[in-house]
Amino acid sequence: MTELKRCPDCGQDKLRDQFSRNRSTTDGLQAYCKPCCYRRNRENKAAVAARNPELAARRAAKNTARNRRWLLANPEKMREYGRRFREANPEQRRERQRQANDQIRATVLDHYGRSCACCGVTGHPTIDHIGGNGKIHRYELFGDVDRPSSIVFYRWLIKSGFPEGFQTLCRRCNASKGTGPACRLDHSKAAKATQMAELKRRVMDLESQLAALSSETPNT
Ligand SMILES: [Zn+2]
Ligand SMILES: [Zn+2]
Ligand SMILES: [Zn+2]
Repeated sequence: MTELKRCPDCGQDKLRDQFSRNRSTTDGLQAYCKPCCYRRNRENKAAVAARNPELAARRAAKNTARNRRWLLANPEKMREYGRRFREANPEQRRERQRQANDQIRATVLDHYGRSCACCGVTGHPTIDHIGGNGKIHRYELFGDVDRPSSIVFYRWLIKSGFPEGFQTLCRRCNASKGTGPACRLDHSKAAKATQMAELKRRVMDLESQLAALSSETPNT
């Protein structure tokens, strides 16, 4: 049965499902069709806001409270709206995600330390599985995640209450470790001494070049 009802606002004959339900009317439907109802409500709200901003604000607050109560009572709708909002605001979602990940990383480094346990530098910290086989361990836990700075791994560390057997290593030291038990870079004093001697030699070189140049430049 296709019973039509005329909307007195737009004057169109519409199907019954084009009208919202209203139990207090004789036919159980709103007088105006849905689009007209929405428009009239909007116009009415704007008129109230212009005439009596205080009343409008009170009504808005009441509405917000009612919507919140309704959402709390309908968790599946809340999830659906949340999902729709996130889909409509992807960049905001990414930014939040980034902030959350930074927070997770900071929490883990607060516990295991911010500088490399091997060479002491603070740049590019990673969490290392002391004694090696971190890759195997991570694979056992998370499948194909094998980056030592993976957020999944960091989350697991927090959830597990910061288990022992992990330490902070800089990216260089961690990479040099590979699958072996320890860093293979030479951070010894001997290596530093060689490096410093080399730098001193270059500085002396530059100084003699500078001296040669300034002796060629005629003085005023
Ligand atoms: Zn209408
Ligand atoms: Zn290091
Ligand atoms: Zn090292």
